Amino acid sequence: MKYYLFDLEIETIGDPKTYNCSHKVGDGLIVKGENIMFKPGTKQFSHYALASLMPYVAAKQRASEESDFMYFESEIACPDPKCSALFRFKRLKKRLYSYEPIEK
Ligand SMILES: [Zn+2]
Repeated sequence: MKYYLFDLEIETIGDPKTYNCSHKVGDGLIVKGENIMFKPGTKQFSHYALASLMPYVAAKQRASEESDFMYFESEIACPDPKCSALFRFKRLKKRLYSYEPIEK
């Protein structure tokens, strides 16, 4: 069975003067299939922020209709209520994957 997933870039944006965490503007992650990598130049990434982003990763990898909020909402807030950092999801290349179900 074949299916498509988008590669994703997740980038830290916002005004660093309003961050409460150790985020840096431009730092982020790259998602390719099941793998998550640091974006080049990123040395660290908050695991609290990462945990808050994870529910969106699988959904953002998949195609969605333009009327679906998952299509047009692309910025997720840091989970620290005193921090105004945002993490912007960007869809990159669409790749074809295959999955072979377990024989029963
Ligand atoms: Zn934060």
